[in-house]
Amino acid sequence: MLILMRPDAESGEVESVLTQLRERGIRPQVTRTEDATCILAPDASKALRADQIGAMAGVLKVVPISSPFKLASLDGALGRTVVEVNGVRIGGGDLALVGGPCGVESREQLFTVARYVADAGVKLLRAGAFKPRTSPYAFQGLGLEGLRLLAEARKEFGLGIVTEALDVETFDAVEETADMVQIGARNMQNFALLRRAGRCAKPVMLKRGPSATLEEWLYAAEYILGEGNRQVVLCERGIRTWSDHARNTLDLSVVPAAKALTHLPILVDPSHGTGRRDLVVPMARAAIAAGADGVLVETHCNPEKALSDGPQALLPSDFAQMVQQLEGIHRLLRQAKGALGGMALHGL
Ligand code: PEP
Ligand code: MN
Repeated sequence: MLILMRPDAESGEVESVLTQLRERGIRPQVTRTEDATCILAPDASKALRADQIGAMAGVLKVVPISSPFKLASLDGALGRTVVEVNGVRIGGGDLALVGGPCGVESREQLFTVARYVADAGVKLLRAGAFKPRTSPYAFQGLGLEGLRLLAEARKEFGLGIVTEALDVETFDAVEETADMVQIGARNMQNFALLRRAGRCAKPVMLKRGPSATLEEWLYAAEYILGEGNRQVVLCERGIRTWSDHARNTLDLSVVPAAKALTHLPILVDPSHGTGRRDLVVPMARAAIAAGADGVLVETHCNPEKALSDGPQALLPSDFAQMVQQLEGIHRLLRQAKGALGGMALHGL
């Protein structure tokens, strides 16, 4: 349930409500805005009736949350979440662009890509130092050396760094370097990792599992939110279907479907979503038109030589062109928003 405190509630009254909840094993989360304090208390109804909480000193109103996603739910939220990374707002109607190679391969490769990503006007660089690979014999990433290079690239180009945490053991090192930590698709239900991400001081981008339903994905987000990290971004990256013309099937209808259920922002990754360079830009355009808060796109200075995901990497010139197209579409949508009147353009 959501507990709204009176605007004039004293801090002692707020503390007393929190203590009562904690004593019953509930883990409340407090949000303070300029004119109100709000306590989100998932599962509080199992321990206390709404009228018992309503009778506590300083409580204005108790709102039950019917959604099973207590923390991720749009229902009961104070508004849509906007996650800010390196000055880029993910959510709130802005266009967030993230680009970079699949993995950090060398200083030269990373810096070449970082330079043209920054020149294209993109402020977030995504590259993996720890790579989740299907084959144990494939390139696994440079590990700690990769993180060191990413930190250097941030300094050199002023880019925010997005990089993946593969396990709990290496999470501390990733958290230190990253401006946003990626949880990969195949780790979407690694609950120990999700809990660790929930205790992380940096924003977390949670990819959808290759066979996860929207419900399972939001429950995964709930694990992160439940540990206190509110800065969660969802990322659709394609699911496994019978369709065999592409690596995965990019599920764009999940964008408005997710927006209807959750306050969390959502990015789309058309690179893993298709696995084919020629499909990436059309799907990136479609993602923005569908209401996504932005895209995450892989690009490489020399895709033929890439150590992972070369076939889906955009060439530098295509990357820059895509950025311009997406900015144009985003501008058009903003203008159209007025013209469309009551029609909901989620994320705008
Ligand atoms: C990646 O982003 O390079 C990656 C491995 O993605 P996913 O977890 O979506 O497969
Ligand atoms: Mn990749």
